[in-house]
Order: sequence, then structure tokens, then C-alpha cells
Amino acid sequence: MNRIREKDIYIYDYMDLIFVKCPKCKSRAKISNNRVKCESCDFVKSRSENPWYGTYSLHVPRCPNCGNRSYYSKHNVKLKNPNLVVKRILCSGCKKASVIKVEVSRETVKFGIDPIFGLSLWLHVVVSNEDLWFYNYTHMQDIKNYISADIREKLHTKAKTMFTKLPKWMKSAKYRLKVLELIEKLEKK
Ligand SMILES: [Zn+2]
Ligand SMILES: [Zn+2]
Repeated sequence: MNRIREKDIYIYDYMDLIFVKCPKCKSRAKISNNRVKCESCDFVKSRSENPWYGTYSLHVPRCPNCGNRSYYSKHNVKLKNPNLVVKRILCSGCKKASVIKVEVSRETVKFGIDPIFGLSLWLHVVVSNEDLWFYNYTHMQDIKNYISADIREKLHTKAKTMFTKLPKWMKSAKYRLKVLELIEKLEKK
């Protein structure tokens, strides 16, 4: 019997080193010390430049004419210039069109991207519409050990560790072997 004790570890404990796909040459790049640097080309960016390669949400809370609250909202948008997005919006309530500045926010909750630059994670695959992703190889190894264990000893803590927060499907009998197989492929990446 393969037994494992949960570790008192959280997702942000793995964020010191994140592997992503270089936006320039698609090879592996590394995020550490607030900087992303490609391992193959000259691509390098620092966090202080505040770049964002991910998607955005667009939102206008209410119609300026009638106050309609379900006015305008759009997700998963790619933008070249997020500082000024102006749209002509037709209100479904009062039928009046207004030209308005849209509120823009970075979509950091989307799986499969890093939270600092919004780049695609290097260690990421989709399994039956579910995202399997890891920040780095240690993160992947810890999850592999956890999933492959037959007995998982819980920590006596109320805190949500990385293990307690793992989605149920990942630990389910149905996906377990598939997940381990995909991890073995990613290990060679
Ligand atoms: Zn590159
Ligand atoms: Zn309106």
C-alpha cells in the first residue's frame, strides 16, 4: 500500500518558479524574481513594465440612460490597448445607443495561464474539458505523488492546502490513471 501524508503547502508556495510558453518563439520560458525569461530566444520582460499577455473582461455596470443593470459584459477578450476601450452599446432596456468607456480587467482566474504575465503555462493539458496544470515540476511531482497514493492521510488543519483544494475529478477513480499518464508525458516536456 502506497501511503502519503498531505503536506501543509499552498498553491502560492509553488509560485517562486513558473514555466510558461514564450510569446515570441513558443519555447519554454521561466518566471522567477518578477521577471520572465525565455530559455531559447532573447525574450525577457520584467513585472515592473506591467505587461499582460492574457485575456480581459469588459464591463459596463449600467446604462447611462435608463440605469439598466444588465447592460454590457464580455469575457475572454484579447486587447492591444486595454487603457482605452470605447464602445457604442445598444441598451436592451431603453433601446438607446450610447458611446461609453468600458471598464477593463485582467482575467487572472482563467486556468492554464500564469497570474503575473498572463502567459500560457508550459505544463498544461486539457483532459475532457478539465484543465490539468502545474506551475513547475515540483508542483507536478507533489500532485503525482498525492494522486498515485492509495491512502491519503489528511492534515489536522482547517486551512485549505493545495491538496484539499484539488478538484474532485482529479482524484476520482475515473480520471486517476489518465491524469498520471498525462503527467508522465509532461515530465518529458
Ligand atoms: Zn522565446
Ligand atoms: Zn437603457
